[in-house]
Amino acid sequence: MGRRLGVMGGTFDPIHYGHLVTAEEALVQFALDSVLFVPTGQPWMKEGREVSPAEHRYLMTVIATASNPRFSVSRMEVDRQGPTYTVETLQALAEENPDAELYFITGADAMLEILHWKDPEEVLSLAHFIAATRPGYDLAHFEAEAASHHPKVSVMTIPALAISSTDIRQRVKEGRAIRYLVPEGVKSYIEKVGLYRLRRVGAVGSPGPAGTGAGERGSRGGSASPSGSRSSSAEVSGSDRCSPVAAPPRRPRPRAAPPPPVWSCST
Ligand code: NAP
Repeated sequence: MGRRLGVMGGTFDPIHYGHLVTAEEALVQFALDSVLFVPTGQPWMKEGREVSPAEHRYLMTVIATASNPRFSVSRMEVDRQGPTYTVETLQALAEENPDAELYFITGADAMLEILHWKDPEEVLSLAHFIAATRPGYDLAHFEAEAASHHPKVSVMTIPALAISSTDIRQRVKEGRAIRYLVPEGVKSYIEKVGLYRLRRVGAVGSPGPAGTGAGERGSRGGSASPSGSRSSSAEVSGSDRCSPVAAPPRRPRPRAAPPPPVWSCST
């Protein structure tokens, strides 16, 4: 029997424990040999919000998966010019892994749209599909869609997917805790580069002008290690969705208080 390779597709903005549990569960339920995480490429406007630069999402994914020898991360979509199409990713992976059966894993809502993706028949011919759902997900809604009845599509309910990237971004924005929702290293990375926060005037590490984020295409190289990556966190802008803010005028320093009087008493 050939290898079974899981391909975990997602925006991962940010990656969280729900994603990691999903990949681990797929590994066990579908007897996969390994799972390759493939963060989506080009930042684009989604649901009225801008997606964080691909380089940040890629690095967070590397950090989150580093301790699992059966997980790895691909730069394939991060480095590809133009929009992300799963068909191109699966074609490339099939070519690189001719002996492997591919299992594409992603969220059920995204997968419901599969028949509207680019070249849906080709997509469905290239892999099996595992649709991950959160608790409380309306399975009837999933089953009402034609894609769910395709013999190559399976559903997997993951309790840990109660965690969502949307909620994490909102929590960071509001200054609420995200510990135990994301791996500690991902939490540190979010804090270090200032992702999901509105920029504070004069904040340490304020990024340069919009457009300098390494998430924009152009950063090439195949390293899956944060330290080995050609782009360091210093090069990427965490808050490139914010426009530059002028620094406030300098205030004169308050003068030091005058020394206390010295008393001299004679008896
Ligand atoms: P999304 O709209 O950001 O996510 C839809 C839902 O699925 C969200 O609830 C999300 O939760 C969840 N989800 C996303 N990835 C997941 C994963 N790997 N495991 C578990 N839950 C996941 O979806 P997307 O990121 O844009 O797209 C998902 C995948 O489908 C990507 O690989 C993308 O390239 C592919 N896709 C391809 C086409 C095409 O070829 N034309 C079109 C659309 C999507 P969180 O927010 O918590 O992650």
